[in-house]
Amino acid sequence: MNKYRKDFPMLEHDYIYFNNASTSLKPKCVIEAISDYYNNYSVNTNRGVDSLGFKVTEKYESVRQMVADFIGSNKDEIVFTRGTTESLNLVATSFGNMIITEGDEIVTSVVEHHSNLLPWQELCNKLGAKLVFVPIREDGTVNPEDLKKVMTKRTKIVALNHISNVMGGINNILELSKIVHQFNAYFVVDGAQGIVHEKINVHDLDIDFYAFSSHKMYGPMGVGVLYGKKKLLNMMPPVMFGGEMVDVVSSDAATYKQAPYKFEAGTMMVPEVIGLGAAIEYINEIDQSKMNVHVKELRKYLINKLVTEINDIEIYNNEAVDSSLITFNIKNIHAHDVASVLDKEKIIIRAGHHCAQLCMSNLKVASTIRISLAFYNTYEECDKLVDVLKKAGDYIDVLFKWWKHAPWNYYGSC
Ligand code: PMP
Repeated sequence: MNKYRKDFPMLEHDYIYFNNASTSLKPKCVIEAISDYYNNYSVNTNRGVDSLGFKVTEKYESVRQMVADFIGSNKDEIVFTRGTTESLNLVATSFGNMIITEGDEIVTSVVEHHSNLLPWQELCNKLGAKLVFVPIREDGTVNPEDLKKVMTKRTKIVALNHISNVMGGINNILELSKIVHQFNAYFVVDGAQGIVHEKINVHDLDIDFYAFSSHKMYGPMGVGVLYGKKKLLNMMPPVMFGGEMVDVVSSDAATYKQAPYKFEAGTMMVPEVIGLGAAIEYINEIDQSKMNVHVKELRKYLINKLVTEINDIEIYNNEAVDSSLITFNIKNIHAHDVASVLDKEKIIIRAGHHCAQLCMSNLKVASTIRISLAFYNTYEECDKLVDVLKKAGDYIDVLFKWWKHAPWNYYGSC
């Protein structure tokens, strides 16, 4: 995979980038596609009858087709949004509001990112519905048998991640989807992490809604996708109103376009959509399964090194063997201190609650360190990380001793 590193300008700055689950780096082809748009055809979509307007609309719509092909859906089942968060909020505010009534139940889990928790929590509070938590296994996945046990006649929506951004386990979407549908409920999948590490076919998996962001899959920020089954999208009311999403307007009412256009009000993030198209072409060219094999091998190598070489390490997701993530703490050292020490060596990781506070409570910690790997990471980078981590304990010890004897401590401050 080393040969692809030259495609990523950020890697020329000698960073070791292990925060790919937060956002991935962007290859040149994505950056160039965006600058090509601004340099050569930077007009709006759908509005003009001029040749530039046609060109940009054609390009924008061709990316919709590319996304559809990438996940095994139809083109008119793809709504462009700002990202996973907006996609999930759209499902909750439009579809959720439409089907949920008082006393209904929505099933989710404690390892969800806040984006796949708070929209449902808000909806339940507003409509008098109940949020039900299905138990999770050690790797953060849901056992289909456990899902069966919490489903009732009142369950209307099951909202789960494909891959947790903290635990990394990969949910068996097909089995979960079968159970959801046996109970006549709808299955909403947060695919923010799944889209990067798993090849999916939303039709084969019978998913009702699948949400993801471009920026985690080597594309630009500011654009994401909501896949929805056509019949569901057609039933759903728009939640944003304005230009382009409308059909006929009179002084007291309006009719709206068919999905997906009724959900894309106003000027859209055209260059970012074009950048997403370039990212999909890039992934297809390398082959997603080759990327994933490398990431899994790398994780195996790194976790083995961490366990054998770092004292007092506590790894929380050992069980997630197919994952790209390693989530851990080092005893008596705050995750943020470890992140600061690594940062001094230009090693970028994530420390904190990862926008998953319920998951932290479940692990009984306030924060963790998370290494998230991508296909451009190398074995040498893993070696360097472990070397620096080994020194981190000593370095923080020295700082702590210095702080304890610093003059301000004698005057009662802090
Ligand atoms: N869900 C998961 C599992 C995520 O990892 C993230 C991003 N960390 C999100 C949702 C939210 O994605 P975005 O910020 O791109 O909307």
